[in-house]
This record gives sequence, C-alpha cells and structure tokens, in this order.
Amino acid sequence: MSSRLPVEIDPYQLAAQNASLEGQLAVEKFKRFSNALATQTGQVRISLLFYSTGDGDCCVSGYCEADVQLICQRCLMDFDYPLKAEIRLGFVGNESLVEKLPDGFEPYVFDVRKKIHLIDLMEDELLLKLPMTPSHVGVGECDPEIIDYIAARESKVETDKQENPFAVLKTLQKL
Ligand SMILES: [Zn+2]
Repeated sequence: MSSRLPVEIDPYQLAAQNASLEGQLAVEKFKRFSNALATQTGQVRISLLFYSTGDGDCCVSGYCEADVQLICQRCLMDFDYPLKAEIRLGFVGNESLVEKLPDGFEPYVFDVRKKIHLIDLMEDELLLKLPMTPSHVGVGECDPEIIDYIAARESKVETDKQENPFAVLKTLQKL
C-alpha cells in the first residue's frame, strides 16, 4: 500500500499489480473543484484499488472524499458539506470495449498510450458529487437576518417594477 499518491497513473500497470493507492491531496490542487467551494482549505482523501476481473479489463474501486465548505444559495453563508464520491470505473482504450466491462462500472475511455493524471480523474468524480444548488439542509439553518434582508430587497424590487415606467422618463426629461 502506497501512502504517496503518484501524479500520473497507468491503470493497466496498477491493475496487473493489484495495486492500491491511498493518501491525501490538498483541496487547492483541484483547481476546478476548489473554485466551486467557499474555502480552498482541507484535504481530499483518496482510496483506490486497481484490479482486473480476469477478462483483460482494468477496473478501479474505491472512493475520494473531502469535508468542504459550500456557499448556501439561499442565505449566502458558508456551510460544511461532507462530500464522498464512490468510484467504480472501468478503463477502456476505445468505445467498443465498453460493453465488456463488468456490471456497475462506469466506462472511462482514454488513450492507452498516455498516463492518466490522478487529480483530473478524481476531480471529475468530485465535481459530479457537488450539488447544483448548494444550500443548508433546512431553511431553519440559514442565517435568519440575511434571509429577511434578501426577502425585503426582493419585495422592494417588485414594488419598483410596479411603478409607472413613464415616471423614469419624466425624471430623464428634467435633466
Ligand atoms: Zn443558508
């Protein structure tokens, strides 16, 4: 078991060795992922096992997880979000091999002449697990003052919209 994670991996080689990879990488190294977070601190914990099911395939099972902070889209405050991506991927060199993968494995089509960047691979899985519209679980957990403020501002916008649009023109004519 390796506690140091390689930058690039050759999944076929790892599967032939039945290798496991375990370790942590700083959240900030995952550029696209960390851009979606409230803070770029913390670690992504990774645990992967590479193997073949005997049919010349190349699979990886495991997970990557991180305790991150997201910005609530209701009250705009940060909140803790434990994120875990279960990983079950089958590496294939071309689309025609996808159907040969064991059940339950997502195909990962790649150029077999090149190695795979581990961070890119894990980052795709993490991004899939991010909620589209992050928010506190219950509205009761949102910051009440900010919720009130936003509600007040929105009702003011509504009132402004209802005002006679010609009033604006009149103001302009006076200039
Ligand atoms: Zn909230």
